[in-house]
Amino acid sequence: MPTLRLAIVGAGPAGIYAADILLREARGFDVAIDLFEQLPAPYGLVRYGVAPDHPRIKGIVNALRDVLDRGDIRIFGNVRFGEDITLDDLKRHYNAVVFSTGAIKDADLDIPGIDLDGSYGAADFVSWFDGHPDVPRTWPLTAESVAVIGNGNVALDVSRILAKHAEDLLPTEIPASVYEGLQSSPVTDVHVFGRRGPAQVKFTPLELRELGELRDVDMVVYDEDFDHDEASKLAIATNKQVTVIDRVLQQWRTREVGAASRRLHLHFYAKPLEVVGDEAGKVSAFRYERTRPNGQGGVDGTGEVREVPIQALYRAVGYVGSPLPGVPFDERYGVIPNHEGKVLDEDATPIPGVYATGWIKRGPVGLIGHTKSDAMETVQHLVTDQGSWWTPEDPSPEAVPALLRERGVEYTDLQGWHALDEHEIALGAAEGRARIKVVPREAMIDASLRRVRAEQG
Ligand SMILES: Cc1cc2nc3c(=O)[nH]c(=O)nc-3n(C[C@H](O)[C@H](O)[C@H](O)COP(=O)(O)OP(=O)(O)OC[C@H]3O[C@@H](n4cnc5c(N)ncnc54)[C@H](O)[C@@H]3O)c2cc1C
Repeated sequence: MPTLRLAIVGAGPAGIYAADILLREARGFDVAIDLFEQLPAPYGLVRYGVAPDHPRIKGIVNALRDVLDRGDIRIFGNVRFGEDITLDDLKRHYNAVVFSTGAIKDADLDIPGIDLDGSYGAADFVSWFDGHPDVPRTWPLTAESVAVIGNGNVALDVSRILAKHAEDLLPTEIPASVYEGLQSSPVTDVHVFGRRGPAQVKFTPLELRELGELRDVDMVVYDEDFDHDEASKLAIATNKQVTVIDRVLQQWRTREVGAASRRLHLHFYAKPLEVVGDEAGKVSAFRYERTRPNGQGGVDGTGEVREVPIQALYRAVGYVGSPLPGVPFDERYGVIPNHEGKVLDEDATPIPGVYATGWIKRGPVGLIGHTKSDAMETVQHLVTDQGSWWTPEDPSPEAVPALLRERGVEYTDLQGWHALDEHEIALGAAEGRARIKVVPREAMIDASLRRVRAEQG
């Protein structure tokens, strides 16, 4: 039987689901899969995006780990596509490639002052509090009043982590440096701003409701935002999710506030105009225009400009994918151009042997579960395209590890990941916690390769 030698680039949920689906698929050929991941740990945004105080979602790594632990997928961790291995290399050694490189960067918010000192991207902050090795170890948490721009779940994650007392995050896997940073934060007020009304938010009810349960944090909503137009009333009456969100917000309208040492304010109908700076170039206020519902579910400006004094601002207006060397990229949408996962060239013609799945295929929206259906579609095409796969010069399994060694790439494998995993769990156990994440890349690699290095003397 012929063998499909497949490279998958990116060991987030999309890449791991694609591998799993292909291995389970009824097909007339054998499959050998190599998974390349730039980090020494797999799981993508499940490890480095999902908030640490969401252990149920973080628990999805258990299902992903089961897939890897079956042992029929080889992992090459700490290998960056475009630097350590190229598209030409993959063509020489595989029949096809699936890119599942996700998204880790912030989308832009094009308003004056967005580059001031004290203005941050939510994705960078998330990478910090989730212990991503490629961001600085410390985060400047010196602001008492903070603005968070956006009305999706990432805005809520960022606001919650900012407003929460650091002690309440101790049961999670946050690294020591993150705990220390959050502990020193003098924050008292976190203001979340959305352009539209409470019936048009993109939060999910569970994430919203959770804010009301934070210890020593008052939820503040404003009566002026609840003068619903017909479109909002209809959404509240007919859309279950919006009904629940409305119920949660209405409860907060009647709650006493004032007892807590921190407040989390939700402002609706606020269109960002400018991040205002002081003479030293530091963020000093957020200026916005009050909007009003336009009857069709959208909003119009009212011309009324308001300003809130703040010392830091986080834009949570979406993630964006990054281009990969030698692979087509759609700058406008931040994705690899594709039709149902078949990567397209400039003329919108499918490029043989090149596929995409997950956030880099579809854009950075949707939950982890969505990456599964996404992977099914891509894998389906990969299987039926057998006639157009590449014919590799050297398909031997030893060729790629030999190439990486020759290039001096210190790659890790499944055993290395197990070793790092065990090390993190042991660090946690010493302090009565489930796990403490290791952050510096070198320390991750050390923990992964310690046994191998010891054996090699
Ligand atoms: C802040 C945040 C919170 C979220 N919370 C939830 C939640 O609570 N519930 C939920 O269901 N979903 C949540 N999501 C969504 C979920 O994380 C995504 O749906 C999912 O991770 C997308 O999977 P992916 O595999 O496409 O991308 P990713 O998870 O981004 O994985 C991509 C992988 O590719 C690797 N990679 C990138 N470039 C290269 C390269 N050049 N070479 C090698 N490897 C590379 C990356 O290191 C990464 O491991 C959240 C997302 C964010 C941003």
